Amino acid sequence: MSMSANEWLACMLLTGLVAGSVLNCVIWRLPVMMRRADSNTKEDGFPERFNLFLPRSCCPCCLQTIPFYHNIPLLSWLLLRGRCHHCRVSISLRYPLIELTTALCTGWIAWCWPPGWYALCLASGSWLLIALLAIDLEQMLLPDVLTLPLLWLGLLANLHGAIAPLADAVVGAVTGYLFLWIFYWSFLLLSGKEGLGYGDFKLLAALGAWCGWQRLPILLTAASLAGIGLFLLLRLTGRLREDGAFPFGPCLAIAGWWQMVTPLAMW
Ligand SMILES: [Zn+2]
Repeated sequence: MSMSANEWLACMLLTGLVAGSVLNCVIWRLPVMMRRADSNTKEDGFPERFNLFLPRSCCPCCLQTIPFYHNIPLLSWLLLRGRCHHCRVSISLRYPLIELTTALCTGWIAWCWPPGWYALCLASGSWLLIALLAIDLEQMLLPDVLTLPLLWLGLLANLHGAIAPLADAVVGAVTGYLFLWIFYWSFLLLSGKEGLGYGDFKLLAALGAWCGWQRLPILLTAASLAGIGLFLLLRLTGRLREDGAFPFGPCLAIAGWWQMVTPLAMW
């Protein structure tokens, strides 16, 4: 069965919308699950059984189950005017934003790449990156359950050298990790402060696996520029933490995604 370019694009846009809705669930539930696992207590006001599937989609405020017809990506948020149908508490703008971003990123991949194994890999990789970006932005956390699959997926996508030859991808993963690891320790020894988190090393390792080591310098330059931008934005809006720490994961994710979806020919 062959698919026309328009069918492929429409199909990927819709898949992206649904994926965005699933990502919203991961973005707010995964950190709660990780905090529970760390602290070994379940006294956080959420139900006893709490994972990615249970309880069913519910309002984070009143915990009322959301019926499927109020859970349609993007549309429901617009129809409900951003409020919970039950308790009228406003629903974070993050929900429609994540759904829209995921749909657009997935659509962009369909626009650039023909239907097939690589486009699907790239779409799944982008979804992992979006979840990482949002969780790091809100929680300053890059969960291993997201960074490590991103790394495996990157190596798998490059098995036949779709974006970089496999050897460059393996060296990219190792160099990405080592580079930030060395930066972390030099910074710690010189200033006594932690400049980065371990999650950042793993994320750059994953991006190295996707892009190959040759693209790491441009990726890091772009991420650092984005970092300066994010720092200034947080500072100007008064949302910078007192110790000046801010998440670097979103900057790596954006710079990395740009490199991942740019085919060699366009680079
Ligand atoms: Zn509610």
